Amino acid sequence: MTRVLLLGGTGDALRIARQLGPEHVYSLAGLGKVPDDLSCEVRVGGFGGSEGLARYIEDQRISLVIDATHPYAAQISANAAKASNAARVPCWALRRAGWQPQAGDDWRMVDDWTELTAALVAFKRPLFTLGREPLAHLDEIPSQQFWTVRCLDAREAHPRARILATRGPFTLEGERALFSAEAFDVVVSKNSGGNATEAKLEVARERGLPVVMLRRPALPAVDREFATVADLLEALQVSG
Ligand code: NAP
Repeated sequence: MTRVLLLGGTGDALRIARQLGPEHVYSLAGLGKVPDDLSCEVRVGGFGGSEGLARYIEDQRISLVIDATHPYAAQISANAAKASNAARVPCWALRRAGWQPQAGDDWRMVDDWTELTAALVAFKRPLFTLGREPLAHLDEIPSQQFWTVRCLDAREAHPRARILATRGPFTLEGERALFSAEAFDVVVSKNSGGNATEAKLEVARERGLPVVMLRRPALPAVDREFATVADLLEALQVSG
């Protein structure tokens, strides 16, 4: 019988986890909400690197690892591929396609925080939708800028920044209202793909705003890759 270790932390992973029976394990880093209504086992917290993960796979008699983590969670994806290899179990991954710029879009691609701040120099009101990283740089906000940072973490008010502690999905109407209320002149984003957070790009397009887009990190090769949850679930049924 297959015993799956599903590495999650995304809406797609939760959709897969909802289909797993009690013999399977859903693993979360512990940064977000931990679901309490699943049939499968849920474990929370790191494994201690790829060696720790390989030990866990062996100790728990896992026979298939599924990496359904976020496309920017490069460390756990690298660990999953390495540990599965070491423990001699297959590793599958959900590799959701990124968004593509559409006609008229003004995307400015950057590789890291340094390039990102350089790309923002000419702007005054960026909306950051990258997660928590900007919170570590609030003391470096250039004098001409006021930042809006949307992420999961609540923070006390800052004189030069507004922190919006909210969780997606975000609707088109909601994004339109936010962009109308604030005078954003640029959007900063990861190329996450999927529907849950795509509306901001549509509103940026409507308003002619540039998007500073952080490039995706390189992810390791795995035994099988799936572009959709449905394809992965179908293969999982076949594999028994
Ligand atoms: P990361 O840099 O790739 O991973 C950092 C460490 O967190 C890993 O080495 C591992 O610790 C632990 N970890 C990550 N995912 C785990 C999981 N599913 N189960 C157990 N341990 C896990 O990841 P990150 O970018 O900080 O993201 C953390 C979590 O948030 C991931 O599960 C990811 O799917 C989710 N998430 C990330 C983003 C994003 O933009 N990065 C966005 C949405 C959701 P050990 O080495 O100790 O095992």
